[in-house]
Parts: sequence; C-alpha cells; structure tokens
Amino acid sequence: MSSSPIRLVGLIGTGIMGRGLAELCLGRGVPVVLLGRGDASVTAARDAILRALRLAARRKRVDGEHAGAAEERLTPATDPAALTACGLAIEAVVEAADVKAKVLGLAERHLSPRALLATNTSALPVGGLARDLERPERFLGLHFMNPAPLVSLVECIPHAGTDAEALEQAETFVTDTLAKETVRAPDRTGFVVNRLLLGLVNQAARLLAEGDIAPAEIDRALRLGCGHAMGPLATADAIGLDTVLRELRELEAAYGPAYAPAPLIERLVREGNLGRKSGRGLLQAGP
Ligand code: NAD
Repeated sequence: MSSSPIRLVGLIGTGIMGRGLAELCLGRGVPVVLLGRGDASVTAARDAILRALRLAARRKRVDGEHAGAAEERLTPATDPAALTACGLAIEAVVEAADVKAKVLGLAERHLSPRALLATNTSALPVGGLARDLERPERFLGLHFMNPAPLVSLVECIPHAGTDAEALEQAETFVTDTLAKETVRAPDRTGFVVNRLLLGLVNQAARLLAEGDIAPAEIDRALRLGCGHAMGPLATADAIGLDTVLRELRELEAAYGPAYAPAPLIERLVREGNLGRKSGRGLLQAGP
C-alpha cells in the first residue's frame, strides 16, 4: 500500500524539543498540532515558537511566507483527540520510559491506522517503547537534535518490528520535507550520537570538577582542537542537565560504569541548576 504524504504533524510535549520541532515544521510550511499538558504551558510554547519564527524570518533562515502563516498553521491542544488528522506524531516528553510508554499509547489510540508514530528519545531503545503499542509496525525513533531547526542530522531508528514502508515514509519526510540529513542508527541505548557525545560530556564535567581549568577553556580546547562547533559543557547546558543525567543513567545501565554520571552533574541537577533552561549550569560551575 503506498503512503500518503504527511500534511499535518502532531508534536507531543512543549519543552525544548517540542518547541524546536514545531518551529522546524512550521518553518518548512508544515502545519502542526502542539499537544501539551495544560493551557498555560501550551500557550507559553505557542508564543515562544511564533517569536522564534519571526526572528528566523528576519534573519532569512526561514521563508517569510511560512513564518507569516505559522500562527494559523499552529494548533495548540491539550486533548489528544486533536491528533486524529495527523499523518505523523512525534513524542517529545521527558526522558522516562514509563511516561513515554503512557503518552505513546494514548497518542496511538487517537491516530489513524495509517499514521506514523515516532519518539524523539535521545537514548531509550525504541523496541522497548514499542512493546505495548497496538501498531508497532508504524512506530520508530526519529532523533532530532537541539536546536531542531538548525542541526542537520536526524537519526532514524527502526526497531525490529518497524515496517520497511513506514521507515521509508518517515525518512522521506525528514529529508524531502524538512530538508535534513539522516543516519540510520542501531536500536541500542544512546544510538550513535548520544552514546559518543554523552561520554565526552561526562568526562568534561569530571575534568571541570578537578578545579584547575575554567569551563570556557575546556570548551575552547574542543572547539579549536577538534573542530567541534560547540564545546561539551555548552552542549550539555543546552541539552538540559536533567536530561543529560537521565541519559547517563540509561547508558550506565546498558554499558557499565564508564558512563557513571559525574558527581558534579548530579549535584547541579539536585540544586536545580539545569543549564540554559534554568539560567545556570556547567558553564557557571567552574573556577
Ligand atoms: P523538557 O524538559 O524541555 O520538556 C519535557 C516535556 O515533557 C515538557 O513539555 C513536560 O510538560 C513534558 N512532561 C513531563 N512529564 C510529563 C508527563 N508525566 N506526562 C506528559 N508530559 C510530561 O525536555 P526536552 O529537552 O524537550 O526533551 C524531550 C525529549 O527529547 C526527551 O526524550 C529528550 O531526551 C529528547 N531530546 C532532547 C534533546 C535536548 O537537547 N534537550 C535533544 C534531542 C532529544
């Protein structure tokens, strides 16, 4: 059976990634349903998305016509029934398997049988999240990175039961409609990017905790020495240290103590210093 093009995307979650994904889709002219837990969070996210799109249009990063039409193409919602007409729904809620499983099951009940369902998890094996779904063949991982409108790569992660046609439809949407590049990643904890990146972030935090080099210098060394666009500490602060910590725990459980979270990251999260989203993080933690 041939697949119909995806004309409406449902985004579940109004945090960093839900907002970034909405900005990305709307900036490419794709209408969006943004599903959140409450009116206040959905309204705040909607305002931030429209502001970001206006700025992106001024900087010529997105088509002015798409930015102008974004307000009418963005449907904020708190009732999952709003997902009914979506050809694809992407779950972007907190990195916790039990919460994701619940949210995915709820979304699936409201989607049409031919719709695709994806998770934007950064580390959790997709096959585990597929376990309780009724249509696991229409489900896969699409790992967009932060900031979603700017990062070129999307990891596409089929699990063992993903249908080949569903995978192809998702990849075509990502490359042709969203103008991203894809890497097909194995369905193992952390996939490719975060399995490698989180190891680097964790070691950078341990180095910082030794107390004899400033955070900006660690990042400058990696930028200039390894050609990284962003240093590991700034990257971790942009991801959110709560998310980094959850991912490190998943990686430690899967691969062993090499990924044991740096005590500095654990302490910052305990103190509520989560990086950019709370105003303080690893970049402010050094000497
Ligand atoms: P965030 O903390 O900014 O937002 C989390 C969202 O989850 C919020 O909308 C919150 O309301 C919702 N949420 C929390 N508990 C919930 C519950 N019990 N039921 C329903 N919704 C709930 O997180 P984020 O950075 O946007 O991350 C979302 C997902 O994207 C995670 O799986 C994360 O690993 C992944 N991801 C994050 C990044 C990043 O750099 N931040 C990059 C790629 C992928």
